Amino acid sequence: MPSSLIIGGSLSGLLAARVLSSHFDQVTLLERDTFPDGPEFRNGVPQSRHLHILLLKGKELFTQYFPGLEADLLAHGAVQADAGTEFLTVSTFGRIVPVSNTGLRLLLSSRNLIEHHVRQCLKGVKNVQILTQAEVTGYLTGNTPDQITGVQLRARGGETIPTTLHADLIVDASGRSSQTADWLATLGYPHPEMTVVNSHLGYATRWYRRPNGYQSPWKGAIVGVRPPHNPRGGALFPAEGGQWTVTLAGINACYPPTDDAGFLEFARALADPVIYEAIRDAEPVSPIYGYRRTENQWRHYERLPRWPGGLVVMGDAACGFNPVYGQGMTSAAMGAALLDKQLQTEKRFTPAFGQAYQRKLAKFLETPWLMATGEDFRWENTEGARPGGATRLVQGYLDRVIKLARRDPRAGRAFLKVVHLLEPPTSLFHPAILFPALLQKKGE
Ligand SMILES: Cc1cc2nc3c(=O)[nH]c(=O)nc-3n(C[C@H](O)[C@H](O)[C@H](O)COP(=O)(O)OP(=O)(O)OC[C@H]3O[C@@H](n4cnc5c(N)ncnc54)[C@H](O)[C@@H]3O)c2cc1C
Repeated sequence: MPSSLIIGGSLSGLLAARVLSSHFDQVTLLERDTFPDGPEFRNGVPQSRHLHILLLKGKELFTQYFPGLEADLLAHGAVQADAGTEFLTVSTFGRIVPVSNTGLRLLLSSRNLIEHHVRQCLKGVKNVQILTQAEVTGYLTGNTPDQITGVQLRARGGETIPTTLHADLIVDASGRSSQTADWLATLGYPHPEMTVVNSHLGYATRWYRRPNGYQSPWKGAIVGVRPPHNPRGGALFPAEGGQWTVTLAGINACYPPTDDAGFLEFARALADPVIYEAIRDAEPVSPIYGYRRTENQWRHYERLPRWPGGLVVMGDAACGFNPVYGQGMTSAAMGAALLDKQLQTEKRFTPAFGQAYQRKLAKFLETPWLMATGEDFRWENTEGARPGGATRLVQGYLDRVIKLARRDPRAGRAFLKVVHLLEPPTSLFHPAILFPALLQKKGE
């Protein structure tokens, strides 16, 4: 009767539970919080107050694992929008005016709505048990530390829970604050190398009621930062209940204020007035929330010379990104999909199983990591090991593609597919994009 345990009941953990339910007789998900009954805030996921975009690759995987999810979200007010025509995007080179539908349909809602409905979908999966107020405090091993065989638990509420649980495979999906590295160190394993790239980005988010009868050709707007001079960006996305989520972001410690006047003033100073003009007379329905724990952080478990059997680490626990690129939930889904694939052919949870998984995950992470950190390194004060000249050349080329996208729908669509992790960045070097991008004249 193979069984598995998952540490953490946020999106990585929920996706892992769904995947493991196809391969194990019993799956137990351990979450230190209690889950709210509805799509509400909980302490374990403080970022959920901020704008969350589910990239299109993520949408594809979420709906593959939870086929009813899209319909559930739409029935509860999520908004669909074409990623091109229904979004006003302001890049470094000005407004991108898409001339035709991209056919790339975004599904937009609050992060709380997504997580709530994923939880609801999981409730229908019979062999998944959810234990809340159950905080994992360490790993258990057999006679030697070569195999993780279970976890130690602490009850966070009044309910009695077991103090230990055993399983054949344990998945750490406990987010950025994961303690796996420390717990493994107590068992004699070396700490993994950690790469950190910090552009000192800060978020401030406020929710608004969309004014009745508000007329605009777009459903959402994104105003990008403009390196090297304007570190302020912002986004306005529609969400359920006729709301707008407005997140302002400042890079290189140009943090957006969290008071009413300062928030509006920051919005006014963006490179384009579209967001300020939309919100200046709109009714706020929330306080302004700040957030600053946004560094890219990669724990390189794939590089450890020794790894125990019975354990894998995924989601933000392995690698967390600067959130402005919207890659976290999609990377969580990719991590679950990779585990699914591996479990289809391997069911012996030896050290080699975990090592192989961490390496496959790392291979996938390379692309989103390069995309996120490459953008961050456009800023002088970003901390971390700077990439070489080749990255700057690629960035120069990407700028040309973005410029071309203002008037060439094919380039715009290709660029969106890369941003949404549907296609690799190499797809932008297709001759149909490469030549017009390189042959653009100055001022075009
Ligand atoms: C400000 C901000 C904005 C973001 N915007 C986007 C976006 O637009 N698009 C996107 O795709 N991603 C975004 N992300 C990233 C996204 O939120 C995460 O990638 C996503 O939640 C998946 O994370 P996770 O499940 O691995 O970890 P988390 O969401 O951090 O969840 C970890 C879970 O583990 C639980 N836990 C922790 N320790 C223990 C323990 N010892 N025992 C039991 N339970 C434990 C916690 O309570 C929590 O429920 C954003 C992140 C931030 C910070």
